[in-house]
Amino acid sequence: MSLKITAIAGLAIILAACNPAAEVKPQESNTAPEIKLYTMSCGVINISDISAFSNKGEFDGKKSVFSNSCYLIRHPDGDLMWDAGLPDALAQNPDGMQNGVFHVSVPKTLKSQLDEIGVAPDDIEYFAMSHSHFDHTGNANMFAGEPQWIVDANEHAWMFEEAPAAGIAQLDSFIQFKDKPAIKITSDHDVFGDGSVTIIRTPGHTPGHLALLVKLPKTGNLLLSGDLYHMPQSRELRSIPVFNTSPEQTLVSMDKFEALAVAQNARVIIQHSQKDVDSLPAFPAYAE
Ligand SMILES: [Zn+2]
Repeated sequence: MSLKITAIAGLAIILAACNPAAEVKPQESNTAPEIKLYTMSCGVINISDISAFSNKGEFDGKKSVFSNSCYLIRHPDGDLMWDAGLPDALAQNPDGMQNGVFHVSVPKTLKSQLDEIGVAPDDIEYFAMSHSHFDHTGNANMFAGEPQWIVDANEHAWMFEEAPAAGIAQLDSFIQFKDKPAIKITSDHDVFGDGSVTIIRTPGHTPGHLALLVKLPKTGNLLLSGDLYHMPQSRELRSIPVFNTSPEQTLVSMDKFEALAVAQNARVIIQHSQKDVDSLPAFPAYAE
């Protein structure tokens, strides 16, 4: 009995293999790729004085709490890890750490979140950071193995030459990238070649700052800001932090970013805004 069933099943497999076209439905040419976007917590930053976040004095005497978000974009052709947050090692200190006006803490590690969805850093195909400040490079070394690194050519030069001297980059956190081959971009970069995930050059905060456009089939288009803006008020006021490397480039990048948001009907996600982060599905749920 069981032998007969096995034989029939075997025959069915052979027949299917001989005529695969009968089993495969033609793909619709306009079907968007099934992309998932995971929003991950990569720390919390309490800032006792945010005056430095505008060169026009709008934030003088004010304080704020920044969320610190990282993103894993899962495309049928591979994964992209976007930003690397504050270092997971901070989680060992539940009270966090004070550094000048910044108090930083990591309630939940990035590694534990990747573990939760069964993704190892070396399973990830592409890695990119919006820029090389300490709150975006914290776990960079975790992705220095297999993933292909995509970086703005100007940022690459800055990272290993001038940035550490500027004080808000921590060379140690990305030192394993120093001699790693990289895709050094000099124009906007279509990561998977189908227009669904595009890295947008937006220099000014740093010499090679990047934003990210993600086209999700159900959620719609999202534009991840990097640190082009830190707060919703920064966007309303077009505030330029005093520590930006180029105020002029920042304004040009804001114009480019806003024009793209309109053209693509994209929802802007300010990565340090808790409100914007909370508008996305809470991990381990994902936007699709
Ligand atoms: Zn930041």
